[in-house]
Amino acid sequence: MSLLPAATDVFIIGGEPAGLAAAIAARQRGFAVTVADCSVPPIDKACGEGIMPDGLAAAAALGLDLRQAGGYPFRGIRFREGDVSVGAAFPQGSGLGLRRTALHSYMVERAAAAGVQMAWGARITGLRDGAVIADGRTVRARWTVGADGGRSLVRRWAGLDGCERDSRRYGFRRHYRVAPWSEHMELHWADAGQLYLTPVSASEVCAVLISRDPRLRLDEALPLFPEAARRLAGAAPAGNERGAVSASRRLDSVCRGRVALVGDASGSVDAITGEGLCLLFQQALALARAMESGDLSFYEAEHRRIGKRPELMANLMLLLDGRKRLRRRAIRAMAARPRLFAPMLAMHVGEISPLSFASNGLALGWRILTT
Ligand SMILES: Cc1cc2nc3c(=O)[nH]c(=O)nc-3n(C[C@H](O)[C@H](O)[C@H](O)COP(=O)(O)OP(=O)(O)OC[C@H]3O[C@@H](n4cnc5c(N)ncnc54)[C@H](O)[C@@H]3O)c2cc1C
Repeated sequence: MSLLPAATDVFIIGGEPAGLAAAIAARQRGFAVTVADCSVPPIDKACGEGIMPDGLAAAAALGLDLRQAGGYPFRGIRFREGDVSVGAAFPQGSGLGLRRTALHSYMVERAAAAGVQMAWGARITGLRDGAVIADGRTVRARWTVGADGGRSLVRRWAGLDGCERDSRRYGFRRHYRVAPWSEHMELHWADAGQLYLTPVSASEVCAVLISRDPRLRLDEALPLFPEAARRLAGAAPAGNERGAVSASRRLDSVCRGRVALVGDASGSVDAITGEGLCLLFQQALALARAMESGDLSFYEAEHRRIGKRPELMANLMLLLDGRKRLRRRAIRAMAARPRLFAPMLAMHVGEISPLSFASNGLALGWRILTT
């Protein structure tokens, strides 16, 4: 049922995590907020469903305790290729495997409690000066926020499609009914791509295949990851396979006039980082602050700053994708000296700076060259 006011302070297009996070942050700054989405809750999406400790901390800064939504904790990350594996625990705290539908239901509930007006099943078809066209009606808004995902129309309407870079891979997700066998989120590597496995409950694991081949599906790819295939053998799939594009995209700009983009609409890092949700929680906070000050240039600068570390991590990890010899050497070297892997994980979740990582990275580089 679509409930649209005649006017609002902030109109947010898209009611998935980015839109709801932006709405909650804006309400906390006293704005009247409307969120509209053409789908109805709970909305599902192909996602690895792993939230890193920094993502949980970013959500907490918005007043969201994602553990209340359910899910299953994981202590760290494990890389595996063939029979070689290396894992490390996060320097602090744990991550959380959380089904997207559970995340969505929780965020909808929190947004409602914060006083956000939500219009589900409402399609936005255009922007006018200081207004949004929703279900054929005009809604006036002081600020308009595009949280309408990777294929954002708001981005196009606002003339923000210009990109510094844009590349894509393809992700397919399915849940399996099996008890988690590890305290880690696992990233399995093969020449064809990566399979990552996140425990999401005491009886369910989420599997995501990411590759450069849009036709490669989980069933066909599983034998390429023998250890994962062994773990999932006999486990019943829970639900259908669902696909999504994993884009690495940096826009020239994320704001124009009184329109701002947030979440995947505003650019994204490859799914391999598991940082998409963390990024959008941080962006939501920065955007609300900028709207309160009446100047979006703060958000423009913050958005760029927030994206730097995940972009660096994505570049490092994608360096190993498609470079078989380098990848095998790197994983073997880290497996021989697991304490080389820990700093990489610490940088991934923002616990150490890229500079401090670089000094460890040199040691790793030397090790790779000499193994
Ligand atoms: C394969 C894969 C695995 C991933 N794994 C992880 C992970 O493990 N951890 C992590 O943190 N991140 C992960 N990510 C990233 C994460 O899923 C995204 O960053 C996140 O879903 C982006 O949310 P969003 O709200 O910006 O966009 P979306 O979730 O795409 O939501 C956009 C919403 O806008 C609505 N909409 C669009 N157009 C209109 C319109 N005209 N009118 C009304 N409504 C509209 C849509 O209905 C939709 O609900 C993964 C991504 C992929 C592709």
